[in-house]
Order: sequence, then C-alpha cells, then structure tokens
Amino acid sequence: MTRSHRSVRHEPETNVELNPLFSRPGESTIFPRFTIPDGESLPGTAYQVVHDEVMLDGNSRLNLATFVGTWMEREASQLYAETFDKNMIDKDEYPQTALIETRCWRMLADLWNAPDPAAAVGTSTIGSSEACMLAGLALKRRWQHRRRADKKPTDAPNIVLSSAVQVCWEKFCNYWEVEARYVPVSVEHPTLDGHELERYVDENTIGVVAIMGVTYTGAYEPVELISAALDRIQDGTGLDIPIHVDGASGAMVAPFLQPDLVWDFRLPRVASINTSGHKYGLVYPGLGWIVWRDAKALPEDLVFHVSYLGGDMPTFALNFSRPGAQVLLQYYLFLRLGFAGYRSVQASSRDVALYLSHEIGAMDAFTLWSDGSDIPVFAWQLTDGHSQNWDLHHLSERLRMNGWLVPAYPLPEGLSGITVQRIVVRNGFTRDLASSFLTDLKKEVAYLDALTAPMPDGKHKEAFHH
Ligand SMILES: *Cc1c(COP(=O)(O)O)cnc(C)c1O
Repeated sequence: MTRSHRSVRHEPETNVELNPLFSRPGESTIFPRFTIPDGESLPGTAYQVVHDEVMLDGNSRLNLATFVGTWMEREASQLYAETFDKNMIDKDEYPQTALIETRCWRMLADLWNAPDPAAAVGTSTIGSSEACMLAGLALKRRWQHRRRADKKPTDAPNIVLSSAVQVCWEKFCNYWEVEARYVPVSVEHPTLDGHELERYVDENTIGVVAIMGVTYTGAYEPVELISAALDRIQDGTGLDIPIHVDGASGAMVAPFLQPDLVWDFRLPRVASINTSGHKYGLVYPGLGWIVWRDAKALPEDLVFHVSYLGGDMPTFALNFSRPGAQVLLQYYLFLRLGFAGYRSVQASSRDVALYLSHEIGAMDAFTLWSDGSDIPVFAWQLTDGHSQNWDLHHLSERLRMNGWLVPAYPLPEGLSGITVQRIVVRNGFTRDLASSFLTDLKKEVAYLDALTAPMPDGKHKEAFHH
C-alpha cells in the first residue's frame, strides 16, 4: 500500500557540476552530492542549483493523486512568508499564535457539533497521521484505565477498522502494539458499515475507526450505522466501545455539502474526530487537527504542560518544535471564507468531480466505482472484457506523458482483485483544466484501443495514491 522503496531512484555517486554562467570567480564549480562541500558558495549560486533541480519534480496542479493543498491565494502566501519563523510549541514567545490555535479547534468542535464546544479539547498537529496517533493513544489509555480499575489484564488491546484504512492506522497499530482487526471490504459491503461487527469486537477492543472519505474511493463510511451496531453490541454484552472518526478529508467536506448527514459528535459514541487542515481545510502542508468531545475522552495523564506567559498550557503532541504558520493560514481561511465560502469552494470541487465522473462513466472502457458525490474523489475500473491489450496501469503511464498524475492501484484486502484509477478534485482543479484532462484521457484511450497486440508485460510501478 505504501510507495515501495524500489521506486525511489538510485542516485549515482557523481558530483553536481555548476553551469559557468552562474558560478562566480573564486567559487567551487562542482558540489559533491553526498558530502557537505568544503567551502562556501554565494547564495545566488546555491539557490540556482536547488531551484533547477526541483524543476524536475512534477507540476503539483496536474497531480490528481494527492489530497493535499497545492494552491492558496496571494494574501495567504504573504502571511505565510511573514510567519515562517513561528514555532508552535513556543507558547511563551508566540502567545497570540497559541490563542489562534485554540480558536481554530474550538471552531472545528462547533462545526462538528460537539455538545459543548467550550468543554471540548483539541490541538493542531502536523497532519492527520499525527492526529490519528493521538486519537489511538487516547483510546488505548482509556481502555487501560478501565481494565486496571476492573483488575483485568491490559496486554492485548485491539482496534477494529476497515481493510481500506489509510496507512497511518497500520503505523499506529505497529508502533503502539495494538492488534489491528481489519474488516475486509467486499462487493456487498464496500465500506465498514457495522455488518457482523460483533465478530470483531471484544473486551480488549479500544475502539472502532470510521473513515469519512475512504482514500481508495472517496466514499463515506456510515458512522451512524456503525454506532447503531455498537449500541446493539452494548445492549447484548455491556461492552461500551467508542468510535474515532478519521475525517482526514471528509470532516472538512460533509459539514458544508452534506449538513444533514449524521456522522460527528451528534452521535454520543463518537469520542474524537481528526481532519487534515492541508486537505479540504485548504491550507498548504503540513497541518492536521483533532478534537475530543470532552475532557473525559482524553485521559489527563497523556497531557503535558508547557510554560505560557508565566502560567502553563496543556499540550498533547508527538512533536516538540513544529511550524506555527500553517495554523495562522487556517485561521486566515476561516475568516476569509466563512461557512458560505467553504461551502462554495467544496461545492465547486464536487461539481467538477461529478462532471468528470459522468463523462468518464459514459465511456465504454470504464465502469465507475464511485462518482464523487461524497468527497470530490472518485474511482473507476476498466469495464470487464473491454480489452486484452491494455490495463489501467498502462493508461496511467500514458497520462503521465501528458503531465497528469492519475494513479492506478488495486483495492484493499477483500477486493484486491479489482484495480481502479482515482481522481482527487481539489480547489484549483477547474472545470477548464478538467476538460483539458478529458481530451487527453480520450486521446490516450483511443491510442490504447487501437493497439493490435497486448502492451509488453513490463512491471508496473506502484503509484503514490495516499
Ligand atoms: C490523508 C489521510 C490520512 C493521513 O493524513 P496526513 O494529513 O497526510 O497525515 C489519514 N486518513 C485518511 C482517511 C486520509 O485520507
């Protein structure tokens, strides 16, 4: 599921030779690639070398694989440049940034319908991955406290999740030694929906993860059904199992586009929710958020205290120092867009997604797996029997030649026989760009369909798709 280390380009032990046009007299004209150069060079020279090399990276606006923000308006860039130096942990030096951080997660607690947003607890993080680690740790610690109070062993915690979870949950289970109980996805149950949940949970279950916006397909998991299944389990067995909602993308989409969908703190079983500020929060990387329903959901013994204007400020984080600028960018966007602005930005992404999925679904070659009506993300498969000569990996490679990054990958365990291709529509992927994309897609499908023999069976590189 992760990008394989084999796909990282192996670099030869050569030097970086400088173009004589921009090296100055007295400077070295080569840089070693893997040792720190002996002497100094001028800022302009070093800048040019780095600038030129990263030109070879992709064009982020044509990257339809990533969920992460690649465009912000000019004022945001200005604010970013003014606040590069702020360290989020230094609450004493940057008390206003600390206050703004708190305002942001309070706004999110309110957006996610916490019963009493003033009593909720939250923090910014470097991304959803860190937020999910914190969520999982809180679930694990709460379970340990309960078990110790009952004089029961705490050596075998487990967590129940869909086989379609993002890789950060595999990391959580690995790093913090919690058994992962994956519920495999299937054609009848393409998302975790509470079906046969009783077969997976027991007295050692620290919680159930529900995903708002499955990365593979963009679909929401029905948190309400999962919660109802856990209610029935509690009635039958007495086990009271909390839910964490991984809303990395969907927690910043559903409140605006599907306000009647009940997935958040309106469900009493939902203990915590995370999102990525740098996905549909619309901020540059890296920013995440997590909010717990109330102080009971986050055991006090996980919280550390840093000094803050002579007093102290509670913190719960894996990092110590971390940039504060992204938090200010999030606050900027909350003020700049408001609820109505977020709704119209997300709605226009959804409209582009629906337009594209409609056009792609209408092509003989493709069968839609999802259409972008949950989060603006959709996936399709090659129509059964369409061609013996090519598959979606070949198409992905052809699209790359046009500059578009559209990954092809197998669905997770349970449906791993099916390969899909996915598009993430983000702010800045306009209808105009979408129609240019469609033109290229149709051209490449026509090329592949015209083949008179199968594409050579080269090894496919697994594309980045998380
Ligand atoms: C992207 C994603 C993550 C990881 O988020 P980062 O912000 O990239 O760390 C976790 N869960 C889901 C469902 C995601 O889509």
